[in-house]
Amino acid sequence: MGGAEQKYVQEAFDTNWVAPLGPNVNGFEQDLQLYLNEKRYVGALASGTSALHLSLILLGVNTRDEVICQSKTFSASANPIIYQGATPIFVDSECDTWNICPDLLETAIKDRIAKGKKPKAIIAVHLYGMPYKVNEIHNISKSYNIPIIEDSAESLGSTYQGQKCGTFGDISILSFNGNKIITTSGGGAIVTRTQSDKDKAVFLATQARDNAPHYEHSHIGFNYRMSNIVAGIGRGQMQVLDKHVKKRRSNYEFYKQSLNDINEISFLDEPIGSYSNRWLTCILLENKSQREDVRLTLEKENIESRPLWKPMHLQPVFADFPSYMNGVSKGLFDKGLCLPSGSNLSKTDLIRVTTTIKKYFKVC
Ligand SMILES: *Cc1c(COP(=O)(O)O)cnc(C)c1O
Repeated sequence: MGGAEQKYVQEAFDTNWVAPLGPNVNGFEQDLQLYLNEKRYVGALASGTSALHLSLILLGVNTRDEVICQSKTFSASANPIIYQGATPIFVDSECDTWNICPDLLETAIKDRIAKGKKPKAIIAVHLYGMPYKVNEIHNISKSYNIPIIEDSAESLGSTYQGQKCGTFGDISILSFNGNKIITTSGGGAIVTRTQSDKDKAVFLATQARDNAPHYEHSHIGFNYRMSNIVAGIGRGQMQVLDKHVKKRRSNYEFYKQSLNDINEISFLDEPIGSYSNRWLTCILLENKSQREDVRLTLEKENIESRPLWKPMHLQPVFADFPSYMNGVSKGLFDKGLCLPSGSNLSKTDLIRVTTTIKKYFKVC
């Protein structure tokens, strides 16, 4: 927390705006629109997951549809496809950004069309804050006329060719869950290109109440709106977003410089034109057993680290769905480790991590 959060929350109490609407909700949405710096409309919601769910509904996804989803992601990217009764089609990653591979994406689209069904949407993810190959992916989306849902849950503060992540999708989503670059304890947002899409999302998020003096419903609604208390935290967090990005990037630089001499460890560089918020610093080891050794060595020192996200096509719950694979996401899962990356890590904390790793590799 930065400090200003409590002031906004206190305001909500003082004015008795304790509801899923109010001045903080409007203020937080405006702050985000201003920050994103494009003509976009932001709707504050209960979570990034609910934003993804509403995105699918806005794009008309239902039971007979297929939706392409980056396999290397967190499960929340894919779950809403199932909420809609649709079928996820998983696509593997490329090595430059670890995100959805343009070549395989096109292969998948062609094959699904040949099998009789054009995918209804593509969910692309800027994983760990690293922008996916926006130009390539969006060109494919345009040429096949399939809209993109941009999962920017991990990448608020990242940019691609100077434009903020969270503004590229036909619809985009953000997350303010407890572990993200800024947090409202739990929360998310949908980012749309039209006012009417935002209005539809907010309508569905507030139980789809038609305009009538009584409770009248002609759609199935959801309880997905952000509360005014939570939005107060968000307004305060917006004041420290840039600071958090700077800190996360300096965490990455510190790790990279300190571990530079260890040949077994590699990092993901930013491709030209990409600027990552470095939400998490991830390293690749030489193989799975070495990765596990390093993880357990850190654990012995009471330092938490975690293997890179296990791809969706390898998750028991998704294993039976179609997938288009090249082995990249599986390799990253085997060899990759997320290091402690918090915005409040001290220099002493960071040194403790790197010293433990250096000791393991017998480097001083
Ligand atoms: C966190 C996350 C989500 C879900 O956001 P919540 O706010 O936790 O529902 C979706 N996609 C990715 C890639 C995430 O990391």
